Amino acid sequence: MSSAERPLIVGAGPVGLAAALFLQREGFKPRIVETKTEAASQSKALAVNPRTLDLLESTGVTARMLELGSPVRGMQFHRNGKVVIGLKLDGIHPKYPFMLGLSQATTERLLAQAFLAAGGEIERGIEMTSCSNVDGGANVELRHIADNAAETVATPQLLAADGARSLARHQLNVDFVGSTFPGEWYLADVTLKTSLAPEFAHIIYCRNGGFLFVMPVYGDEQAHTNGQLLWRVLGNRPNPLAMLEEAEPTAAPVWESSFRVSHRVNAKLSVGNVYFAGDAAHIHSPMGARGMNLGVEDAWVFANLLRIGQLGRYHDLRHPVDVKVVKEVEFFSKLVASDALPFRFARRYVMPIVARTPLQSRIKQTVTGLDHSLPADLDPPEHEPSREPGVKQLAL
Ligand SMILES: Cc1cc2nc3c(=O)[nH]c(=O)nc-3n(C[C@H](O)[C@H](O)[C@H](O)COP(=O)(O)OP(=O)(O)OC[C@H]3O[C@@H](n4cnc5c(N)ncnc54)[C@H](O)[C@@H]3O)c2cc1C
Repeated sequence: MSSAERPLIVGAGPVGLAAALFLQREGFKPRIVETKTEAASQSKALAVNPRTLDLLESTGVTARMLELGSPVRGMQFHRNGKVVIGLKLDGIHPKYPFMLGLSQATTERLLAQAFLAAGGEIERGIEMTSCSNVDGGANVELRHIADNAAETVATPQLLAADGARSLARHQLNVDFVGSTFPGEWYLADVTLKTSLAPEFAHIIYCRNGGFLFVMPVYGDEQAHTNGQLLWRVLGNRPNPLAMLEEAEPTAAPVWESSFRVSHRVNAKLSVGNVYFAGDAAHIHSPMGARGMNLGVEDAWVFANLLRIGQLGRYHDLRHPVDVKVVKEVEFFSKLVASDALPFRFARRYVMPIVARTPLQSRIKQTVTGLDHSLPADLDPPEHEPSREPGVKQLAL
């Protein structure tokens, strides 16, 4: 396959890597370039949902994820030291009735290994500096960081998986429609002495009106904690560890960070021969554990539409799904975190009865990614449909 026939993926985050893996297995030999010279060692996402486990099953990655991760069986909401709501995921999926706790760094490592094992190459230290549509494809300018050399690439399809600040989105003047929450959210990854159950994610309403989200970090990060369980403590007030009454840190945090929370979706998910996936297409608060998972689904839809020669359906298939998910997650995030009176009222008086209302299954379906089905005509064939000899089955 000549380079002008190869799809180009920009960004080797989880979404670009998943797209590369899906395409490689279809025999497309995608090219994937990434600015960073090293793979990430810190993790934003901590949970893989059942939908992603389904989509990655045939690649062999799901089996490795299940070995390295740990099931999170539901969510507990705490107030004044007591569990006031318990949501269990029992029965939500026939094979995977849980969220799999697994760090993003581990997920990216497994996706990368699978792609390499299938004959792919990740080209690191290469930045996309511009892109434009041309007849029958896209032209992309790349900069090789090591020697500052420029390269012009012609590609039939450009998949922009270049994250929330997507250069492709700016270059093609695509609106990122939505809004940003006031204030910042804060996180600390730290070992804890606690009686909080590790098989649940925890939302704790604090005395100062803020909230904390607490769950274990499973995966590669555990190698650096002397066998102790590492936890993510995330909240909407500075210094979340100071608000945590249910646990005591046993060491200094291994990672602390803060970030703004936005809820936005691209007005267009494709422009000519450029397609957007993952955070380049949509962002929302981490409360739904959907960002990476939704992006992996974008990648799967993109790869299968390319396989059946129907990429023209990409925007129409993905836009309603992405908009719905972002709206749902925004609503749940306000319910948990907003300081506005109606949400504070709902937290105190409506949420305690949530376990007996349809809101419960709405929350569970949104979080697990099972809130919509995927078109049956996109299901890949059972056999390995590699177009060229030499693209091998995975050996992880
Ligand atoms: C605290 C927190 C917790 C979260 N928890 C979850 C969770 O539990 N589950 C979940 O599903 N999601 C979660 N998310 C969201 C998830 O982390 C993101 O949705 C995910 O990282 C998106 O992946 P991506 O590949 O689209 O983008 P990114 O991970 O941002 O990757 C984009 C890549 O593109 C590269 N790049 C950018 N520009 C260029 C360029 N011009 N040229 C070349 N390369 C470029 C970047 O270096 C980067 O490696 C969480 C987010 C946060 C902040």
